[in-house]
Amino acid sequence: MAGDAVAEVKSRLDLVEVIGGYVTLHRAGRELTGLCPFHAEKTPSFTVSPERQVWYCHGCHEGGDLFKFIEQIERIDFRQALEMLADRAGVELESGPRAARGAGRRRRRSIELNAKAQAYYQHVLWATPAGEPGRDLLRDRGVDEALARQFGVGFASAGGHGEDALARYMTGKAGATVEELVEAGLVHPQRGGRTRDRFRDRLVFPIRDERGDVLGFGARALGDAKPKYLNSPDSAAYHKSSAIFGLDLARTAIVREHAAVIVEGYFDVIAAHAAGVEHTVASSGTALTQEQVHSLGRIAETLILCFDGDDAGRVAATRAVDVIAAEGVQARICRLPAGAKDPDELVRRDPAAFAQVIGDSPPAWQVLLDAALGGGEGGSIDARRAAAERAVSVLARIPEATTRELYLQQAARRLDIGARSLSTDLAHSMRDGARRPARIVVAAPAESALTGASEEPEPVEADEPMPPWEAQLTRVVLIRPELAAALRSESGLGPDEFTNPTARRIYDAASTDPSGFTLRRLTGGDQRRAAGLLVREVPEFADAAEPEAIRQLMADCVRLIHEESVRRALVSISTEMHRARDEGRTEDADALAAKLSRLAADAPHLRRTVAVR
Ligand SMILES: [Zn+2]
Repeated sequence: MAGDAVAEVKSRLDLVEVIGGYVTLHRAGRELTGLCPFHAEKTPSFTVSPERQVWYCHGCHEGGDLFKFIEQIERIDFRQALEMLADRAGVELESGPRAARGAGRRRRRSIELNAKAQAYYQHVLWATPAGEPGRDLLRDRGVDEALARQFGVGFASAGGHGEDALARYMTGKAGATVEELVEAGLVHPQRGGRTRDRFRDRLVFPIRDERGDVLGFGARALGDAKPKYLNSPDSAAYHKSSAIFGLDLARTAIVREHAAVIVEGYFDVIAAHAAGVEHTVASSGTALTQEQVHSLGRIAETLILCFDGDDAGRVAATRAVDVIAAEGVQARICRLPAGAKDPDELVRRDPAAFAQVIGDSPPAWQVLLDAALGGGEGGSIDARRAAAERAVSVLARIPEATTRELYLQQAARRLDIGARSLSTDLAHSMRDGARRPARIVVAAPAESALTGASEEPEPVEADEPMPPWEAQLTRVVLIRPELAAALRSESGLGPDEFTNPTARRIYDAASTDPSGFTLRRLTGGDQRRAAGLLVREVPEFADAAEPEAIRQLMADCVRLIHEESVRRALVSISTEMHRARDEGRTEDADALAAKLSRLAADAPHLRRTVAVR
């Protein structure tokens, strides 16, 4: 059952720890708060309750349980969130699509084997004669052993006659099968059941996730061998479009600096760390992807692009700016001083200078606009017109209107032309769409989830007011659903007596099936509201409260809800009665009057309420 898997996963994972991987949380009383990852804010309104295992944002009113958080932040559906969290919790998913079940297991196995392969490569590098070419290359690059070990660098030897040194080690001592090694992308199958190591005669860099699990490898050739860089193929564990090299070591610094530096090569990352610029990472084997920007954007406000100084590097940076802007993250471009080919070279020459240029990186749009204006300022009419055209094509790429306007004014000033005419050209350009950046296609969500009512289309319903006693009782019901069933049978309190629809649905669901009740049973809107109720401090009600105190609290709420419901009934009957009387329907009016007095007899203290209506 998926429901069991959900409960099992929740019991094994701590919400605070999972959320803490995305949001920096600070303790505030019994709860933790931080800056909401779902809306822009400067003062923390995002709240996590460890006690209730729910989260809620008082700013944007998002909220829910562990799964809801992962769905929202990773932009995945429930099924994918379940797979991801089950994998993290070490829970085998028995139900659900066979493929999904297998994928989690294969991913874990690949990570296990990668860890063993990494240890093996590292051993070869530092403790065998075969590792000498690797040690030489590191020495040439000025990387000492301690630093290389921190990054887990290893060496894949030529592999001997069979080119299968790793395969022999892994199938022998490490207990792997050939199929598993192929699946993990560590070996190529050959005819006759033989295999060949994927990485041979290369320095090998493990690509790890933020927890340090080895997802795959990037391998650099010695000398001029081709290809210069070879990566693990995409597998159950490694996806080149989302993997980020150095993230495990850079994460803390990225959070601290609110920024991440993105460089092109593995040696650039290592050099940057050596120079104390520890918030540095690299995309591996691809140009910067939207997925990478998205995951960095969760912990960094700004991404600083520090690509190679050649044309390819400049083109890559230009392209990356659009990807970053599309994710709503600030981009800066670091300009390497003349003569420095890449960050690695600059660090080896002058580590302090590297830290300096990173700190001085101008906003990316400024760099692109400067390049576009080049030669146009103070030039001939033709030169200025050409520069204006190039400027317009940069301005058209800026998604945010205010930013675009500010750069437009600057460009007009620098070219000594009217901002209005530049603005007209820009409007044309943007309407034509010709110069706009390529649209970024986001994969549609996968098929509907395994379970959970929250995936169903939700009726649009504004948050209706919830009287305090209904809120109080709903909170109790959310925390102790089993009490709802007892309450319903003992007090006879029916769901219809709640005025608030969310409270009504929660009470109904919990009292009907208390053992199966979870936040997941609720629609998205109700789940958010429920999370909001749960994170609120309730001094009168703690989990450890005396049963007698809880009973008293519930009894008070029930009484108020009941009274309110009777009061509403009295008002409506009396209104109806008056109308019947006005319209001369005497029989109807008399019947209603009888009804009214019966009801009022049960609630004498409410009579006044009606009288003064
Ligand atoms: Zn928020």
